[in-house]
Amino acid sequence: MPQTSYTRGRQDKPLLTLTIGQAFDATVARHPEREALVVRHQGLRYSWRQLAEHVDAHARALMALGMVVGERVGIWAPNCAQWCILQLAAAKVGAILVNINPAYRTGELEYVLRQSGCRWLVCAGAFKTCDYHAMLQELVPELASQAIGQLHSERLPELRGVVSLAAEPPPGFLPWVALAGRAEAVGPAIFEQRQNSLQFDQPVNIQYTSGTTGAPKGATLSHYNILNNGYMVGESLGLTEHDRMVIPVPLYHCFGMVMANLGCITHGSTMVYPNDAFDAELTLRAVSDERASILYGVPTMFIAMLDHPLRPQLDLTTLRSGIMAGATCPIEVMRKVIDQLHMAQVQIAYGMTETSPVSLQTGPDDGLELRVTTVGRTQPQLETKLVDADGGIVTRGEIGELCTRGYSVMLGYWGNPEASAEAIDPAGWMHTGDLAVMDDDGYVRIVGRNKDMIIRGGENIYPRELEEFLHTHPAVAEAQVVGIPCSRYGEEVVAWIRLHPGHNATADELQQWCKARLAHFKAPRHFRFVDEFPMTVTGKVQKFRMREISVELMSGQ
Ligand code: AMP
Repeated sequence: MPQTSYTRGRQDKPLLTLTIGQAFDATVARHPEREALVVRHQGLRYSWRQLAEHVDAHARALMALGMVVGERVGIWAPNCAQWCILQLAAAKVGAILVNINPAYRTGELEYVLRQSGCRWLVCAGAFKTCDYHAMLQELVPELASQAIGQLHSERLPELRGVVSLAAEPPPGFLPWVALAGRAEAVGPAIFEQRQNSLQFDQPVNIQYTSGTTGAPKGATLSHYNILNNGYMVGESLGLTEHDRMVIPVPLYHCFGMVMANLGCITHGSTMVYPNDAFDAELTLRAVSDERASILYGVPTMFIAMLDHPLRPQLDLTTLRSGIMAGATCPIEVMRKVIDQLHMAQVQIAYGMTETSPVSLQTGPDDGLELRVTTVGRTQPQLETKLVDADGGIVTRGEIGELCTRGYSVMLGYWGNPEASAEAIDPAGWMHTGDLAVMDDDGYVRIVGRNKDMIIRGGENIYPRELEEFLHTHPAVAEAQVVGIPCSRYGEEVVAWIRLHPGHNATADELQQWCKARLAHFKAPRHFRFVDEFPMTVTGKVQKFRMREISVELMSGQ
């Protein structure tokens, strides 16, 4: 009988049966004086002991604010020390951290705050083109006039208050610097009791991913899900307390908060944040100044670092390994990462938010060929299978939809049992929507997606969400969105638009209109105005034809 496309990862590495708080405390006890966190753009350096002091003070403060087990606290901020502190503090009191993309605008923010029922939100002051305070004041005008912590908002009925990371926020916001002061109200015994009451299977995090249905869905993850995933990713890299990891990837995504933060926390490695958002030069300087051994990134980040004129002048020889994930890595980029960034042991990881995220990874001994053509083999304690349209497992070498089962599969989508049942079948398999091939040795190659998702510079963009949004423009009669390849960002967004008769709109106008209302990365780069779309005989829009035509037209420009 031919071998089927099913594999099981190693079984000899036991899973951690701890809460995130317990795992963190164990590391603090092992290495109290070693460096835990370096945040270069804030000029902060904490040992594990110092980080624990901040975490515990803020955990008690969250309890003082009234957070009970299972309540949600949102974080809407770029990378910073407070992000890491809140991640751990929320986990210690059993609150569920809701990651909010710092590029979100008012409409997107309102949706996730309402859908998750956040009690509290921690927001940054201002960042790039976002004025977080102004957007919140628009969304929650009651903020300025009501007592802090006793908010009654019309649009966000579950929200009680907002903490601001700004030094001097406007009235109505609780400054972060004042938050720790509230810890006094909660004694150590009550705090300990709370921590002891927590179970590792409880939810600890909600991460929003959009879907083909348009509205974002909140992947709900437990301590067990993400702690073990961070741990297994770190095990594959062979992390120890002597490693120093530079983390330019966003913390609101699982690449940052799980693979990086929890990978380091479970191994006692030092976390180094080079900046609030990705910057090639600052990342390279962080590697060099901090004598880093590990560097993470999506392929577009590595491309930018390799191309940077400063790179040859810096000493990057302390690097040994890292992870490239999120999208397929071009072969040339991989070669240069090994030769020019000295990351001889760089590994490729594959996964998705709904699976904590990583489910496949190349190993330390995999040759270059395997690292540039595959995403490795199934991670320890997980299972992978590739299935055809009828759900049957395909034979090795055939294309099938990749499915994952095991400890890493999310608890479900927050408040959305229908979507959860669509994604996770009754036998526990998460259907990823990615198409893959498995070879005889169990190595998996990603060959495409049977979902329409676009990945631009590591950010996921869901055409359906954009199409629905474009339809709200008065001149737009119909909008269809596709992704086309782009050397800089991996993919770029193209919107095909049919205007209402008698209406006018230019590409520029539509682009500005999108930029003012949407996270910047979602705004289509190209617009094409048409009278009709390529259709099948059954009346479905042929996105693959739109893609082909768009590519042809762009190459002629
Ligand atoms: P996210 O939920 O943001 O982590 O995005 C998950 C999606 O990113 C997957 O379903 C894949 O389509 C894509 N992806 C992640 N890692 C890789 C990789 N190493 N190679 C190719 N695609 C990837």
